[in-house]
Amino acid sequence: MALFGAESLVRQRLVPNITQSRECVAKIVRLDYILTRNISHLQGAHRMSPAHITGTDEHIEIRKIFCVGLNYSEHVKEMKAALPQAPVFFLKPATAVIGDGGTTIRPDISRELHHEVEMTVLIGAGGRNIAREAAFKHVAGYGVGLDMTLRDIQGDAKKRGLPWTLSKGFDTSAPISKFVQATTISNPHDLEIALAVNGMQRQHASTGNLIFKVDYLIWYLSQFFTLERGDILFTGTPEGVAATVPGDRLEARLISPGSGVLASLGIRIQ
Ligand code: MG
Repeated sequence: MALFGAESLVRQRLVPNITQSRECVAKIVRLDYILTRNISHLQGAHRMSPAHITGTDEHIEIRKIFCVGLNYSEHVKEMKAALPQAPVFFLKPATAVIGDGGTTIRPDISRELHHEVEMTVLIGAGGRNIAREAAFKHVAGYGVGLDMTLRDIQGDAKKRGLPWTLSKGFDTSAPISKFVQATTISNPHDLEIALAVNGMQRQHASTGNLIFKVDYLIWYLSQFFTLERGDILFTGTPEGVAATVPGDRLEARLISPGSGVLASLGIRIQ
């Protein structure tokens, strides 16, 4: 009888506590998973390194990242857009940068992560209201980058007339290569950019096909912004943009028709 009473007491008092404890432990495990995941996202995004110029010890802190949309006519056609009368600019935060060997992480809210290979320009000397004729003196180097884009989020923003910030500036959306010294490039509009996904070529174009050239973009931008050493310009993507899937390996290159590969960049998609 005494034993029965003790068992009843255990059931009444301890079992609810054990159940609550189990629920509590489950919540802690879930919270730990969320925190760990978010911290690893942040660590990935903040592994941002300075810009490197090949062949020098220079490590330049990255400042503003300007990107140009719709700057190759074939890409304008594939996006079913009108040819722009003036450059279309948007910004990415410096925290979006990852380097060679990095991973672009698609936020769970998106289902469509596109690649856009682009020539990148590193500003070496700052200025404002820079004359077009003097623009190249402000360039420290040229490289290749990927303007990773959440196309579904961008499409929704376009429909509603909203900014592209979320679709273009998310963490890890700006993989960049090292930069080749500008002084070694006689004509940045006589180069090629190329992108392969899992070894298959997806994009390839001459920078000679840029609608708005590098010197024009620098002149145009500097009327609105004070350009600073460490600013980076993504000059726009050619045709062939397409979706990626987790596990894809992307290899981007900046090529000189005369001297071969000048800069390269490899990333994975997660
Ligand atoms: Mg782009």
